[in-house]
Amino acid sequence: MTVSAVVLAHRRAMSERRKKIQLGTWRGLVDATEAREHVKQLRRVWHASYAAIGDAAGGIRGGTLRHLVEGTTSRDLPPPARITADVSDAILTVTVDDLADIYRINPIGATRRLRALAVEGWPLSEVVKRAPAQLAGLKKLRAGTKPQITVDLNRRIRVVYEDLIGTDPLAAGIRRSAVTDIRNQARKDGWLPSAAWADAIDDPEVKPWEVVRCSVPSCIHGSKDERLLCSNHLDRLRERGTLEGLRAKRNSEVLIENARFILATDPPIDPETEEIDGDLLAERLGMTWDALEKALERAKINLVTLRETA
Ligand SMILES: [Zn+2]
Repeated sequence: MTVSAVVLAHRRAMSERRKKIQLGTWRGLVDATEAREHVKQLRRVWHASYAAIGDAAGGIRGGTLRHLVEGTTSRDLPPPARITADVSDAILTVTVDDLADIYRINPIGATRRLRALAVEGWPLSEVVKRAPAQLAGLKKLRAGTKPQITVDLNRRIRVVYEDLIGTDPLAAGIRRSAVTDIRNQARKDGWLPSAAWADAIDDPEVKPWEVVRCSVPSCIHGSKDERLLCSNHLDRLRERGTLEGLRAKRNSEVLIENARFILATDPPIDPETEEIDGDLLAERLGMTWDALEKALERAKINLVTLRETA
């Protein structure tokens, strides 16, 4: 009678476990979620195969990782809730740079990097020298017509990008005409600067400027373009031609928040009327009642509603 590979693997795992228990190094099982999410992330961002990730995790079979993420439908098995601590650790240490050089991955980060370099006036010929790489391949990458890139080339492009981005190509001795040409091309093709991606340049699902905060202090929205403004503030800029006056508005918002905080925590009450003492509240905000009243009017709110919402 032959013994199936599954049974053999199980036996091997059990004997490993026994050995480790005897040695006192058995760390047991841990929640599989973190490792599962990590594998999903490597697949989503980098289009890394299960085999590539498994190799990098020290020889975990691709099928094992597939089971971790998808379960095994043919045998009606759901993904495991728990895995061994060793396997979890091995998976969690894998980054894109740990994948073997020859594997092919998502080129989107490399494309964005080459374009951002062009925006700053860095021609491909300079990248080629430093990477080193084939000019024709990089051209395709920058044009966005290469469906995949090797792990190795991806890493080399990133290294060059990190060296060059934010530095002046003219100061590095690149001909002025070459710098101007490439900047013009970048403008014509609508290529985006490095700032558009913040630190999410490799994430295929991130939209440009989405991860960059609006530059108006206190605004919580993502900015939408190179002016570093969210759509609200872009509209406002278009309407008025300026963002002056926003600061005043913001200050009154902050003021009302502070007033609300005082009312919620330690409201100044006039003992005779048992109502909020406006003068005292204003004083604690470092202003006169007149000024506070005006700010409240502008915000279309009065002491009663302010207190109710505190
Ligand atoms: Zn904004």
